[in-house]
Amino acid sequence: FVIILVKERAEAALRHVADTDMLTGVGNRRWFTSRMPKVMRADDALLLMDLDLFKQVNDRFGHDTGDQVLVSFADAIRCNLNASGSFARLGGEEFAAYLPKTNALEAMKAAERLVDLIGKLEVDSNGQRVPLTVSIGVATSAAAGRSWSDLLKMTAAALYAAKAGGRHRAVLCGKNAA
Ligand code: GH3
Ligand code: MG
Ligand code: MG
Repeated sequence: FVIILVKERAEAALRHVADTDMLTGVGNRRWFTSRMPKVMRADDALLLMDLDLFKQVNDRFGHDTGDQVLVSFADAIRCNLNASGSFARLGGEEFAAYLPKTNALEAMKAAERLVDLIGKLEVDSNGQRVPLTVSIGVATSAAAGRSWSDLLKMTAAALYAAKAGGRHRAVLCGKNAA
């Protein structure tokens, strides 16, 4: 019995490591993908977030500050998102949030709230405030049946439009998006 218990604990610990982004402590791409329904239900929303001009943050303040910014960013979003959603770091300075039962209007409201939140986030580097903004691409499944990778492509197009439109904004796929 004790052996089974120890084995279960060890397996849970391994699973945690495999599913977690080690820098920010949020879920990683593998975990996020595993959480996605195979086919989207009606009104599932996906937000794709990418930090703006993050290379400049590293160049100006150093890679350690860049790492600290990623941690602060992830903490801020995680605390702000409703517990029913899933939030993960897909890689680099790119993050995603899955919001079930969220229509386009609600998803855009949530995305704009996060854009504002990050614009106000104070990260300090040796007494200097690190400027930080995020761009977010938003897409919703509208009707059920779309695959989650299709939804991800839609958010990528919307994110591209948000960057092209001047960054520090959320764009809904289909509206202003390529
Ligand atoms: P854009 O607004 O167009 O997204 O510009 P950007 O500078 O954010 O985009 P780009 O893709 O050119 O640069 C992303 C940078 O993110 C480059 C890379 O060094 C940095 N980065 C990726 N992962 C990490 C990380 O874990 N830590 C740090 N400090 N930097 C990272
Ligand atoms: Mg990027
Ligand atoms: Mg970026």
